[in-house]
Order: sequence, then C-alpha cells, then structure tokens
Amino acid sequence: TSQETLYEKDSQYVWHHLKPHQKGENPLVIDSASGAWITDIEGNGYLDGMSGLWCVNAGYGRTEMVEAATEQLHKMPFHPLSNSHVPAIELSEKLNQWLKGDYRIFFSNSGSEANETAFKIARQYHHQKGEPGRYKFISRYRAYHGNTLGALAATGQAQRKYRYEPLAPGFVHVHAPDEYRVPSGQSFEEWSLECARMMEETVQWERPETVAGVIMEPIITGGGVLIPHPSYVKKVEEICKKYGLLLINDEVICGFGRTGENFGYQNYGIEPDIVTMAKGITSGYLPLAATAVKQELYEPFKGEEESDHFRQVNTFGGNPAACKLAVKNLEIMERENLVERSKKLGARIREDIRPLEDHPNVGNIRQKGLLFGIELVKDKETKEPVSAETIGNVIAECKSRGLIIGKNADTVAGYSNTVTLAPPLNMTDEDAERIVRTLKEVFRGE
Ligand code: PMP
Repeated sequence: TSQETLYEKDSQYVWHHLKPHQKGENPLVIDSASGAWITDIEGNGYLDGMSGLWCVNAGYGRTEMVEAATEQLHKMPFHPLSNSHVPAIELSEKLNQWLKGDYRIFFSNSGSEANETAFKIARQYHHQKGEPGRYKFISRYRAYHGNTLGALAATGQAQRKYRYEPLAPGFVHVHAPDEYRVPSGQSFEEWSLECARMMEETVQWERPETVAGVIMEPIITGGGVLIPHPSYVKKVEEICKKYGLLLINDEVICGFGRTGENFGYQNYGIEPDIVTMAKGITSGYLPLAATAVKQELYEPFKGEEESDHFRQVNTFGGNPAACKLAVKNLEIMERENLVERSKKLGARIREDIRPLEDHPNVGNIRQKGLLFGIELVKDKETKEPVSAETIGNVIAECKSRGLIIGKNADTVAGYSNTVTLAPPLNMTDEDAERIVRTLKEVFRGE
C-alpha cells in the first residue's frame, strides 16, 4: 500500500487517542523500531524519548523476547488463571524478587484494570475483616490512574473526567506537593508535610471507618513529573498505618527501572500493601498488567466459603505468552543492569542539561532515573505557565530534529506546561548525547 493510501485510510478508520487527525498534516505512522529508535512509513527515524508511552524500558528489537513469546504460543497459547500455568508461576516469582517483598500476584491486561483490581481487593479485604464500611479511596490531584470508571474517578485531572460522569463514587482528592510551587516562606519539606497533614485531616473529615485506602504514584508522572520529598512519602505510609488504610502504589510508569530503582517506591523506603504495574512489565511488547498484594492481605480470601474468595475473573489476564515475554524482559534488564543504568545515565543527563536552567522559560527541571520533566514558564518570577502553543512548538522542534518528547497531561487549565522525557533504559551513550544536544539546540533556537 502506498504511503498516501495509508494516510487516507488512517484518517478514515483509525480513532487516534486524545486528538483528532490534524487537517493538512500527516500523522506519525510508525513502521519499525530498533534500540531506542522508531521509523515511520516514510523512512524517517526518530529517537523515541518517550519509550512509546513510558513502556519500552528494555528497548525495541529484542529478538529474545519475541522468541520467548512465540515458543509459548506454539506450546500452549491460552489458559485462564482459574487454573494455573508455568509462565504465570515463573513471572510471579520473578516479580517478588523485583518487589523485594512477599506478594501474591493477580494478573490483568492494562494499568487501568490493575488499579480497578486493587480497589476491589482493598474493599473486599475490609469486608472480610469485618469493616464493610471502608469503601473510599484518597487519591491526588494531577495523578492519572487509568481510563475506566473507577480508575478515572481516582484520577485527579478534571479535563479527562467531566464529560464521562458519573464516575465511580467514593474517591476523594487531596493536593500533591509540587517542589516548584511551594507557598512562600516554606521549604519544600515543610509544604510536603503540610500536604500530608491535610491528607490526614481529609481522612478524619471523611471518617477513617469509611476509608479503604490511599492510591498514589510514588512520583506523579503523566501529571507533570512531580518528585516528592522523601518525608512526604514516609508520612503517607504512616497515615495509612495509623488509620488502617491500605497503601496502593501505582507503578504503571515508575516501575521496572524507570526511576533508577526496580520500583519507584523503593526510592523512598516504604512498603506498599498493594503495587499495581503494567507498561514496562513487558516493555510494552504485549499487553499485561499485575496487582501485587502483600501475602498477609490474601489471608482473609482463603476461607471455605465462596463469598470469602475474590470473585473476579480476568479472561486474558496473565496471558501465557505475555508472561513468558515478561520473564525474558526482566531477565534482560537484570543481565544488562538496566535499572542501574537508568540511575546513572539519568543523573548524567540531568547534569548535562543543567545549562538549560539559564533559559528564561525553563522554570524547573525534575529528574529521577530516566524520567524527566522540564517545566516551562513565561516568567520565572510569576511562574506563569507558557501557552499550549509554546509547548507544542517545543515538541514540534524536537520532532523536526528527530527526537520524540512528550508533555504532561491536562491538569488544571494552563498547567500542561511540562515537557517530559522517558527514553528506553538501554539507549546508547550516543543517544543520550543526542537528547542533550537536541534540547540545547531547541532552547537556543538554533
Ligand atoms: N496508571 C498510570 C500511572 C498510568 O500512567 C497509566 C497509563 N498511562 C495507567 C495507570 C493506565 O494504564 P493503561 O493505559 O494500561 O490502562
């Protein structure tokens, strides 16, 4: 099929996520990929600074992963986890090694489902423990937790929500501290502890006996790469313990080495009760997600009665080929020390882009591992966000130089002003230098 025909058919049939087809502009139609690079149907190569959508942590073109999945498809393509199969067993064990804890794993297919599953497990857990009144979840403004009616209710980004209401009831939002926007006279740590205090107060106002848990990404990713103060994360864990709430960590983006640790929460020394994951678990090669639940929380589900059990089937969850591929993905990341690489290379890039801070519109650069947010403002004094057009231009300028970057999702009007970077963890040193060079060129207007 010719390129023109493909573009025409794409514009006729494919419903792209988030934005419609732009008149007079061909969409990026990706045809092949290798390492950290993607190539479109016109043969243009781009360094994929967003790893697809924060997914391809081990990089593109991993033949070993494809072979592992193919072999499994030949051997035994499908069986549900009402029974079990070898790839699910192997992957559950490996995930426990990565989690450095003792967790039982429920498999599904997407980050949204992993979070929905976490909410249902948490609610039923409280039921089983004789506290059926605990149904609410505390989540944070700016965070994204998925597209389904529960995960979207947990999401703290109004623009994504208001036309789809009513969403699932029982989600209460609180502020997440943002190091760049701290009330005057306070340190970031003081403001962070103030936010934690307000979270605790919210639990009290809601009455703790109605609250099931707190869901948070350790670092808010799509909402603007907000790196918390370590005291805040610890404090949230303390609040959960104090009031009997389950702490759910959404590791859909932060997991699998993105932040320089296996999982994001490991940067902060906490032990979440439930960990949800997707994307990087297969480096995006096949759909797979998981909800990891501390073993002690599984106890009340073990009863004799059917009503004791978790009454959820997920037909495709834990698909054997996807599990097999995930195991291989994690083996490769271990063999190539990609988590360590994320930490070291991320820190180096952070140093190399420090000169960007001198640019009048670069308000704040945030980084953890190979996760970056560069917040752009019109004025460093007022911190007024740049326009959507300016952000669009920066992204377009990078693209025209062969670099794909992203931006944070809608938060409140005007605050989609952070450009984001989350490149494959195995990109070469040259790729890293190219990212730095391109950003410098774009901000210098060369
Ligand atoms: N949680 C977070 C933090 C995410 O970034 C996403 C997706 N971007 C999801 C959940 C939902 O994942 P999915 O799109 O696989 O449903």
